[in-house]
Formats: sequence, C-alpha cells, structure tokens
Amino acid sequence: MKKPFVTLEQLGEIVKKYPTPFHLYDEKGIRENARRLKEAFSWNKGFKEYFAVKATPNPTILQILKEEGCGVDCSSYTELLMAEKVGFHGDEIMFSSNVTPKEDFELARKVNSLINLDDISHIDFLEKVAGLPETICCRYNPGGAFTIDNAIMDTPGEAKYGFTREQLTEGFKKLMDKGVKHFGLHAFLASNTIANEYYPALAKLLFKTAVELKNETGAHITFINLSGGIGIPYRPEEKPADIYAVGEGVRKAYEEILVPAGMDDVSIYTELGRFMLGPYGCLVATAIHEKKIHKNYIGLDACAANLMRPAMYGAYHHITVMGKENAPHDHMYDVTGGLCENNDKFAIDRMLPKIDIGDLIVIHDTGAHGFAMGYNYNGKLRSAEVLLKTDGTTQLIRRAETPEDYFATLNF
Ligand SMILES: *Cc1c(COP(=O)(O)O)cnc(C)c1O
Repeated sequence: MKKPFVTLEQLGEIVKKYPTPFHLYDEKGIRENARRLKEAFSWNKGFKEYFAVKATPNPTILQILKEEGCGVDCSSYTELLMAEKVGFHGDEIMFSSNVTPKEDFELARKVNSLINLDDISHIDFLEKVAGLPETICCRYNPGGAFTIDNAIMDTPGEAKYGFTREQLTEGFKKLMDKGVKHFGLHAFLASNTIANEYYPALAKLLFKTAVELKNETGAHITFINLSGGIGIPYRPEEKPADIYAVGEGVRKAYEEILVPAGMDDVSIYTELGRFMLGPYGCLVATAIHEKKIHKNYIGLDACAANLMRPAMYGAYHHITVMGKENAPHDHMYDVTGGLCENNDKFAIDRMLPKIDIGDLIVIHDTGAHGFAMGYNYNGKLRSAEVLLKTDGTTQLIRRAETPEDYFATLNF
C-alpha cells in the first residue's frame, strides 16, 4: 500500500493555513534520498548529482539540494537565472540544452557553467556567440533502440537529441583544434526506468565510447554524465530502484572498462530529476462535486493545469482519500478537474473508498514534473507550493497565482 508522507491530522492543520489545491513537499524525504544517492556513488571521488531544475523549479527546493551537495542541471535562460540567484556557481551548474538560443549560451558562459553541447553545429555557434570554454561536454545519441537483455527501453533513433557516434569523433577533434582541453560525455537514453540495470547499461555504453574517443583523438575525458532517467514506482505494485545496486552496477562497469584504459580519474555525474523529487511531493486537493451520469465522477478543486501527466501521458498517479485508507475500495470513479477538456482526469475507472464532498484527496508522486508542467488553460491559476519541513512545520515556498498575475502580461 502506498502511504502519503503526511497524516490526515497534519493535513487538517495545513489546509487551515493554505487552501487547496497545493503541492506539498517533504523535506525529510528529499534530504534522506539525496544522501542515499551520494552514498551509493561514494566510491567515485568526483561524483556529483546535478538536479534537473525543470523537474521542480523552486529556489527553496534547490537550496535544500545544494545543502546536500548537489549542483543543478539547467536547460534555459530562466533556469540559469534561478540557479545563479540560489547561489550555484561555475561547475556547480550543468547547462544541458537543445535548440539553444544565443542569449542562453551567453548567460551560460557568463555564469561559467559547464556546457553540454547537443549538436555538432553548436560548436561553431557557441564559439561565435560566447566563445568556447576549456572544458566541454558532448551529448551522445547512439540511434536505433536502447535495449537491456533484449527488452527495448526506448528508441534513441527517434530522439532529437545529441551527436551521432561519427559526429562525436569529429566534434572532439574540432574542439581540441579550437583549444578545448577537457571533455565530458553525456547521454539520456530512457526515461522513468525503475530497472536497476538502466544506469549500469548506459554507463557501459558511455564508458566504452569514452575509451574509443580517447584512443581516436587523445582527448582528456574528465567526466561522464549519466543524465536523468531513473524512475519511481508510481503504481503501488511497483518496486523502487535500489540505488545502492545501481551505484554498484556502475562501479563494476567503471572497474571493467575505464580503469584498465587508464581512465581511473573520471568523475561520474548524474542529472536526476524524477528520482530526486518525484515521491517527495503530492498534490493536495478537495472533492468539490460528485456527478452521476453514464459514469460516476468526483470533481476536484485541482485540474490538469496543476498536474498534466495523466492528461498528457495517461500517467498513473496513486490517489489516497485521506482518513479512508482502510475503508473498502468499493466505488469506481473517474476523478476529474474542471477544465473544458475531457482528458482532464486524474484517474479513470479507479476503485476508491466512497468519497464525500469535502474529503481531502492526496495525489501521489507529483514532486517532479508536477507543478513544473502547469499552465493557465481555461484561465486556471497555478497553485501554491508548500514545504513540510523536517521539524514538522510548514513553509509557503510559492504562493498561489491570483487573477492579477493572470492579467499581468496583457496590454489593455
Ligand atoms: C529531463 C532531463 C533530466 C531529468 O530527467 P528525469 O527523468 O527527471 O530524471 C536530466 N537531463 C536532461 C538533459 C533532461 O532533459
């Protein structure tokens, strides 16, 4: 059974202060998980997690992760600005963008971030707009299908990202000619993967490629960036990735491939988003309507504008009706928001306890790619974000939008 990180009693107090809907984050869970990741990779001297800001772009969350030793992975101008405001500097910032505007590269260079190039044409573009740094990373796209034990995990051949294998060799040579001294190598081949084998398989591919590139070009490779992609168990029957087994799998590949090639000083970087925050956030809403037509509907005060994943990907998010955890799940509902879009459903044909108007509903695992994907369709406003702190108190870390915010960009 999936349990919320907050009790009904706690939540009753929280909603007196902050009206629903809001996203609630669990500081204790975030910190403990970040420490486990760090420990799992402690065998690697230079290990660093660069939290993918796009997953949860909130300065308070970034500050917590900074205190746990994380850097940040940014992909846009405003994400860079936020990182800088929080106090990340230089190589604490990874800039992994694509289709990158000139202004973004200029800012990335100005804050002296590490830059992860998405395309071979960006070598000349970056040189022209902001100059090349001494250390640069290139993103690899091996094409085809990415498989583990013959199971297709994803299809990089269909993905817009990265350099081809031939372009990596050509790009490294070109960058060396232009004075670049140190290199990183990056790839993101499958997302939301809870299999412990994902990172080790990706690591093997990147380690082998790094050895080849070193032999072909003489490049000094200082880090390998395993990117994001470690998944979380959205469904109650799924098991979380065992991060210690993942770290150990990557260590073995490192010993097998990099060490014999004389590359035993390579740092391992990660750019996890979902794994770092997903389970440590939830969307808290109130049941405000019940409707019985061809199906039974429960309408919430939250909608897809607060959590887009079910509408966009058909993603499963577990739902707890607070205070009714142990009641029989003998009612089938579609749980919906109020957008004029029939895909605005948090759950379809879900067996739940009988829901009464006013019940508090917790939608699980919204800590990453939850609030962040919000939008203003139908004039719906973005919700607040609240932090449940380690000491049990709460802090408003983003206020809810008001109609004034909605109208602020209009000229009339
Ligand atoms: C989205 C993204 C991540 C984080 O992905 P998760 O699935 O949240 O771990 C990391 N790196 C890059 C370049 C990304 O685009």
